[in-house]
Amino acid sequence: MPRAVHIIGGGLAGLAAAVKLAASPAAIALHEAAAMPGGRCRSYQDHATGLLIDNGNHLLLTGNHAAFTYARTIGSEKLLVGPEKAEFSFFDLANRQSWTLHLNDGRFPWWIFNADHRVPGTNPLDYLRLARLLFAKDRPIGDVIDCDGPLYEKLLAPLLTAALNTEPREASAALAGAVIRETLARGGAECRPRIARDGLGTAFVTPALAYLAKAGASVHLSHEIRALRYDGDRVTGLDFGGADFVAIEPQDAVIMAAPAFAAAALVPGIRAPTAFRAILNTHFRAESPQGMPPLIGVLNGISEWVFAFPGRISVTTSNADRFMNEPREKLADTIWREVCAVTGLSGDRPAWQIVRERRATFAATPEENAKRPAAETAWRNLFLAGDWTATGLPATIEGAIRSGNRAADLVLAYQR
Ligand SMILES: Cc1cc2nc3c(=O)[nH]c(=O)nc-3n(C[C@H](O)[C@H](O)[C@H](O)COP(=O)(O)OP(=O)(O)OC[C@H]3O[C@@H](n4cnc5c(N)ncnc54)[C@H](O)[C@@H]3O)c2cc1C
Repeated sequence: MPRAVHIIGGGLAGLAAAVKLAASPAAIALHEAAAMPGGRCRSYQDHATGLLIDNGNHLLLTGNHAAFTYARTIGSEKLLVGPEKAEFSFFDLANRQSWTLHLNDGRFPWWIFNADHRVPGTNPLDYLRLARLLFAKDRPIGDVIDCDGPLYEKLLAPLLTAALNTEPREASAALAGAVIRETLARGGAECRPRIARDGLGTAFVTPALAYLAKAGASVHLSHEIRALRYDGDRVTGLDFGGADFVAIEPQDAVIMAAPAFAAAALVPGIRAPTAFRAILNTHFRAESPQGMPPLIGVLNGISEWVFAFPGRISVTTSNADRFMNEPREKLADTIWREVCAVTGLSGDRPAWQIVRERRATFAATPEENAKRPAAETAWRNLFLAGDWTATGLPATIEGAIRSGNRAADLVLAYQR
């Protein structure tokens, strides 16, 4: 068992590793470059709307077991809320058609045999297409299934764009298969949507910090690591700049949980994804109409998912590189008009904010997926974590937390 464990990066991967190790006798120190932990899953007070907003809407499904175990451990599971059934509402801006998918609990997909529960215009045989993705080798999805027709346009394209944050035709069939295996293929009980209604920080970050403080772990904010020192097959020091240097003894361990591009600059020779995709989130200070579902999938607009939060409506657009240089005002205008069409709201655009995350996730293509490294490194006391490591999942909360758990397990097994 290491004497001290240093975790670099306070996103969900680093926090999950710290939470898992907190019960061990090792001294845990987490070093985060920013003034607040959370990384790509964070909340902040926004001046334009006067609201606490998230950097981006985050959707979990009940099948994300590592994420729920993490939340249960830090005492925030009840803050992840959503409907009792796996129901997903959709609205098509092109023809104003709306429908709701009703997935039954249990593995057998009865819902595809009920025209009122499945995607309009599809028949049960169409869904066989999904089976081809379940066991696909890592090729572009477009090489494995036909990317056209109502099932693709009304379900697979929105689902896979959201899960992979990449144009589905070029995205990894292996990652799509993993998502479908862990959710749709397990039935509705694993597919109930869950959101952090009171914010990502309240659900995933603040309670983790309280948990770590209680366990005696130390969290160092605004503490960016500049370089690691190596000697032979071990890391021997952490250089935070100037005189701020931490010596790493042979019995100590380090978890590198910074994003791919930062980790690749700090750890020589590791392979890591180098292509990323953006996500656009647009927040409006507005009450959602009564009875609006927590999220609505939108077709044929810039908006892809409209989320209802208390006092706020927030819209996600994935694979959004094409919108990174669009004028913000114009985007907010168009998206507000779409929100009105989807929700039935009307009136002038309310106070708004746009958050553009340019490197939201690695591009989930077969090429980038092949670059993801294992948690073990050439240095015996250095382990990698992060949504970009080889978790078998796309860049998600679930993948990030699993990667942190895995790195923590390797640390626990580490012997000098
Ligand atoms: C807009 C958006 C929407 C998303 N939607 C969803 C969703 O709906 N569902 C879902 O499951 N996932 C979603 N994701 C993905 C999810 O947020 C990420 O997969 C997850 O947060 C990644 O966590 P991480 O710890 O691996 O990385 P990060 O969150 O990037 O954490 C890395 C941390 O390392 C710190 N760091 C960097 N360099 C250094 C350094 N030199 N020294 C110290 N610290 C350093 C960073 O500041 C950061 O805090 C979304 C992401 C975005 C951006």
